[in-house]
Amino acid sequence: MRARKVLGIARDTLRFILEASRSSQPMEFAGLLQVDKEIITEVLILPGTESSRMSALVRLYMLPNMQVAGSVHSHPSGRLLPSEPDLIFFSRTGDYHIIVGPPFDENSWVCYDGAGKRRDLAILDVEFKDDGFDDDFDDEFDDEIA
Ligand code: ZN
Repeated sequence: MRARKVLGIARDTLRFILEASRSSQPMEFAGLLQVDKEIITEVLILPGTESSRMSALVRLYMLPNMQVAGSVHSHPSGRLLPSEPDLIFFSRTGDYHIIVGPPFDENSWVCYDGAGKRRDLAILDVEFKDDGFDDDFDDEFDDEIA
């Protein structure tokens, strides 16, 4: 479960996290971060309390080929320091751990490493290339049937 090299987080992914955290209030939002081509682009949502997070994690680790760069969760209180359970969780879950809080904008989050030390994480503008080829292919196929 060694984390691979990470260049940063995709801006759209960060926005999704902030929006999901905002709409989860007053509950906590929590997820695991997954990396594609050295950029954090995926969030796997976990049950949202600090006690349930660890058991969810254990279940996930039983899945084959599960690559986790780290985690994200919200502190609706706005205090962006990791709690004691957070630090235990961080140490078992990769090297990039984001805590977000109100007002849930691009400045209201902090990233920590597996030891609970603050670290930088770049926000990257990434173009998500979706299935353009498949769409064209499907269209042609439909035309032929017609
Ligand atoms: Zn926490």
